[in-house]
Amino acid sequence: MISIIGAGPAGSYLAHLLASRGEKVNLYEEHSVIGSPIQCTGITTSSLKGILDMDQDFVLNKAKYARIFSANNNFIEVKLKGTNYIFDRDRFDRHIGELAINSGAKLHLKSKYNGCKDNRTKKIKINNEFKETDILIGADGPFSSVAKSNNMFNNRKFVYGVQARCNLKCEEDKIDFYLGYGCFGWVVPENNKVARIGIAAYDKANIEFEKLRKLREGKIINYQSGMIPIYDPKVITSKDNVYLIGDSATQVKATTYGGIIQSLLAAKEMSKSFEDYDKNWRKAIGRDLWTSLYARKIMDRFSKKDYNELVRLFTQKRLKKVLEENDRDYLTKFIFQLLSKEPRLLKFLKYTLFN
Ligand SMILES: Cc1cc2nc3c(=O)[nH]c(=O)nc-3n(C[C@H](O)[C@H](O)[C@H](O)COP(=O)(O)OP(=O)(O)OC[C@H]3O[C@@H](n4cnc5c(N)ncnc54)[C@H](O)[C@@H]3O)c2cc1C
Repeated sequence: MISIIGAGPAGSYLAHLLASRGEKVNLYEEHSVIGSPIQCTGITTSSLKGILDMDQDFVLNKAKYARIFSANNNFIEVKLKGTNYIFDRDRFDRHIGELAINSGAKLHLKSKYNGCKDNRTKKIKINNEFKETDILIGADGPFSSVAKSNNMFNNRKFVYGVQARCNLKCEEDKIDFYLGYGCFGWVVPENNKVARIGIAAYDKANIEFEKLRKLREGKIINYQSGMIPIYDPKVITSKDNVYLIGDSATQVKATTYGGIIQSLLAAKEMSKSFEDYDKNWRKAIGRDLWTSLYARKIMDRFSKKDYNELVRLFTQKRLKKVLEENDRDYLTKFIFQLLSKEPRLLKFLKYTLFN
């Protein structure tokens, strides 16, 4: 018997893969429905197409271009490699939940994990009842109770993600990224009248969000904010019969703070082998998570002036071409191409190499 805590993308997709293999799976979700509350922008690259059928009603919009704005409001526009999908996160989660159920996993709603009996990980407490399990999987998001109750939480760190759906005028095939607002900001269109305006920041997140919202003159419909874990390369994801996946395992890219594709790829690895899961997910996505973390550490030390210069350098055709020909999910594949084409970019490495 396998118990998965949390019916987000990581938990439901894993439940689907394991149940398809004939495993007995219980999927426990504390809320009364899957997919609510939404705390996500719901944007992914076309890499998702290789994992899920994307011809589905959860896809609200498709973007073909990205504009990257510097602090002084200059921008570069790049054609994205492959379509970027913007989806209804609520419907997306429900879709994966249905895959899990149709494969034979048993979904239990309003079922909250409340720890293990006397620290015995084969007896878990769901609401007020104890249940037997052979394997316990924490897919329970950034503040994972499974990680906390099994001493796997450690000293992890978070950024604030403040986001709201807003009414505003926008171009529906363009995603806008803003450098110089917190870690960065975004305007992601659902259509040409509604977009998700958000920022990720270590602190003063609401102030940074308001600055961007005012710049784009967005009128708030509703908030969709949440905390985002920062990838910890030392995270413990397997201990006895307990495993962590998705946000609960900090498997989030620190450059874009995207975690959906990473959690689905990690689920694939776990479904193949519990024993080798820790080694295998690191092999599959660890290098890109690490590179993104490293890139974020460099970017954290950029001043607004640096961002202005960076955007100016990227207006050169030869650099734009590298951006357009590569998938932003796989940073390691093109970062060296960029450096070889524009050695002036090396200047930005001074922040980590010499300070
Ligand atoms: C503002 C914001 C914007 C984002 N934008 C993007 C984006 O555009 N693209 C992208 O790829 N990623 C984005 N992310 C990150 C993305 O949302 C996460 O990486 C992703 O949701 C991780 O999925 P998960 O299944 O691991 O966790 P979650 O989606 O958090 O799911 C965890 C589930 O566990 C349940 N749960 C928690 N505790 C318990 C318990 N004790 N018992 C039972 N159930 C429990 C929760 O109710 C939830 O359903 C964003 C995050 C934020 C905050």
